[in-house]
Amino acid sequence: MKIIMLGAPGAGKGTQAKMIAEKFGVPHISTGDIFRANIKEGTELGMEAKKYMDQGLLVPDELTVKILLDRVAREDCADGYVLDGFPRTIPQAEVLDAALEKLNEKIDYAVNVDVPDENIVKRMSGRRACPKCGATFHVEHIPPKQEGICDSCGGELVLRDDDRQETVQNRLKVYHDQTQPLIDYYGKKGVLKSVDGTVEMQKVFQAISDIIK
Ligand code: AMP
Repeated sequence: MKIIMLGAPGAGKGTQAKMIAEKFGVPHISTGDIFRANIKEGTELGMEAKKYMDQGLLVPDELTVKILLDRVAREDCADGYVLDGFPRTIPQAEVLDAALEKLNEKIDYAVNVDVPDENIVKRMSGRRACPKCGATFHVEHIPPKQEGICDSCGGELVLRDDDRQETVQNRLKVYHDQTQPLIDYYGKKGVLKSVDGTVEMQKVFQAISDIIK
């Protein structure tokens, strides 16, 4: 089962991606998480990616495509995966399709978690992330048990640089210019499924579960 999650930054696709991955027993692959792990480790890739991420811009396709193709070639992806945050441009989608075609495989579903821009800005400024383990929370919607502290590892939660308001505005512009065209792209391939992302997290998950059988 190969699933792509689409939606604006902050639409909740990461949370849904994790839940779907768990339900189907396949890896959840987030290119944003891979970049953040590299930044934390101080790798060359991390340093390069950070320049773009801190401004709300996309990391260039050459870098992103390579890390994604390496990741999906690993053994744990044999039964499929849920991609979260990839592809974000038409060229990225084309490279992925070409790689899959060579293996006689294809994407089964592209799930679009639909949330209007107004909701996004509000959501993202309330988001808090754990720099130690990568878990994410929301001050209103998914609060940690103890304020400011990660439920999973006890780390201190932070507002990520790329969740700051100016950066969010940039990310939304980038999303509309470069990522939204993917909705049409997967629509034409007949694999697009849209769900209302403004409702409660569990309801969004139920709607997705009804689609993916
Ligand atoms: P995310 O955690 O998916 O919201 O990604 C955080 C940031 O990582 C994005 O704003 C981009 O700068 C970068 N990024 C993640 N995935 C991609 C991608 N597929 N293409 C380009 N940049 C990406």
